[in-house]
Amino acid sequence: MTRPVVPVRSCEVLIAGAGPVGLMLTVQLRRYGVRVVLAEQLDEPTGESRASQLNARTMEILDECGLLADFGPAPCERIGHFGGLPLDVGGVDSPYAGLWKVPQFRTESVLARRAVRAGVRIRRGHRVRAAVPEGDRVVVTVDGPSGPVRLRCRYLVGCDGGRSTVRELAGIAFPGTDADRRLYRADVAGIDVPNRRFERTSAGLAVAARRPDGVTRVMVHEFSRPAGVPDEPPPFAEVVAAWRRVTGEDIAAGTPLWLDSFGDGSRLADRYRAGRMLIAGDAAHVHMPIGGHALNVGLHDAVNLGWKLAAVVRGRAVPGLLDSYGTERRPVAARVIADVDAQALLQLGGPEVEPARELVRELLDLPGVSARIADALSGVDVRYDVGADGGEHPLLGRRLPHEVLDTAAGPVPVAGLLRDGDPLLIDLSGPASGSVERDWAPWAGYVRRVPAAVRPGSALAGLPAVLVRPDGHVVAVSGAPRTALERWCGPPAQHPLVSINGGSHG
Ligand SMILES: Cc1cc2nc3c(=O)[nH]c(=O)nc-3n(C[C@H](O)[C@H](O)[C@H](O)COP(=O)(O)OP(=O)(O)OC[C@H]3O[C@@H](n4cnc5c(N)ncnc54)[C@H](O)[C@@H]3O)c2cc1C
Repeated sequence: MTRPVVPVRSCEVLIAGAGPVGLMLTVQLRRYGVRVVLAEQLDEPTGESRASQLNARTMEILDECGLLADFGPAPCERIGHFGGLPLDVGGVDSPYAGLWKVPQFRTESVLARRAVRAGVRIRRGHRVRAAVPEGDRVVVTVDGPSGPVRLRCRYLVGCDGGRSTVRELAGIAFPGTDADRRLYRADVAGIDVPNRRFERTSAGLAVAARRPDGVTRVMVHEFSRPAGVPDEPPPFAEVVAAWRRVTGEDIAAGTPLWLDSFGDGSRLADRYRAGRMLIAGDAAHVHMPIGGHALNVGLHDAVNLGWKLAAVVRGRAVPGLLDSYGTERRPVAARVIADVDAQALLQLGGPEVEPARELVRELLDLPGVSARIADALSGVDVRYDVGADGGEHPLLGRRLPHEVLDTAAGPVPVAGLLRDGDPLLIDLSGPASGSVERDWAPWAGYVRRVPAAVRPGSALAGLPAVLVRPDGHVVAVSGAPRTALERWCGPPAQHPLVSINGGSHG
């Protein structure tokens, strides 16, 4: 029997999916007071391990948003890998250089707690099923525990994972390649096998890492058995057999706590927005979950989108601001996919790829090469095309380096200056600040201007001013920032965007 549809309710933004990306987007939108409904089909979080590391850029972002303290201390490793070859990421120019070991369920629980504290009720057991554009709204049907609910929202964002319903409803294509190589992964209690970091045997690839609680995560791939990836978790017996063939060891006596198989397929949405529907995270891009990119890239999507969507909802965005989300983030995902596909070739190929591995191993010894790859793995190399007047300055479009600035209030780390979510104008022009201050004045209620001085060796040395977006990316480095203010901060003399954390800076 079809149950009656509950009458329409309304919200500003409806987010489908309370995975890490949906939760991060919720937290970002709440910084600006946007009314969010977060619908999640599962009754409870999965508690699965999945992604296990946060990179340096994610840690910087958590600091910029005032979320880092909620995570507490986390172990940090400086050695990552590229295609299974060791890569030192400890030299990356960030206070958070390294790979921070935080299980995905912990990231989700921290973000969920913050979302709830910001006044959002996570609607568990609610599945987004249909969406129809209607004028300047989208009417979304959500199947909930008491039957279907209709919600009228200004924007619908699909953070609903690789099989995204929202992507489908929006008619966004998801081209790419299917997996033809299979890897097994399992968390197993009660086994005693040596730790292995990407060990290659004649039969395949094996990884084993014993956690402090005694559980061992094993991962195994057989070179000679290309195969797709089934929908269901594999039987433990399959993992045991593959492990035996690759390592000669028997783990059959262990107790599997989590079983997973995945492959080397990758897909990228052909656009991130269709009218009032947008997608982020795995809904927009999927690739082999090796190399530590997947979760981090999704979180960065949410941070790029959050302040832009808030500006649009508040009516203070210039035309095109929301489209810049896709034009900026899609190339980042395309680059990550190319990087991961290259790693898959090096990692999952048999003896025939050894010469290529040897060459890459030698290249990784060259400081310029290893720095380029370490920056990519750490997420600090992203550069958006911000169309700025400042020409080719190396900072334009990049994230503001996490330095300490000297201000009237004393030394301040830049993360602290970004914490209230406003655009930031760092005025380095000194007492003769004329043009910077004059250009900024019409935005004084919205853009925070901080007169400051840099320290020796600063990346900002010699610049008169630096305009930084709420997501930490630099969009102007000139002493006359008016054009960039108009482009990124909307028309002057409108109401401030910030309604929760910040306030007027006039
Ligand atoms: C088994 C597995 C292992 C992984 N291992 C790693 C790893 O080792 N390293 C790594 O970096 N990454 C890994 N990943 C990838 C990483 O987990 C993802 O990149 C990350 O979870 C993406 O977050 P997300 O929020 O975009 O999507 P998801 O985490 O997939 O969250 C999507 C959420 O949307 C919900 N949802 C779906 N459809 C609807 C709907 N119609 N209505 C409402 N809710 C809906 C889902 O229930 C889910 O909670 C793994 C992924 C999987 C699936």
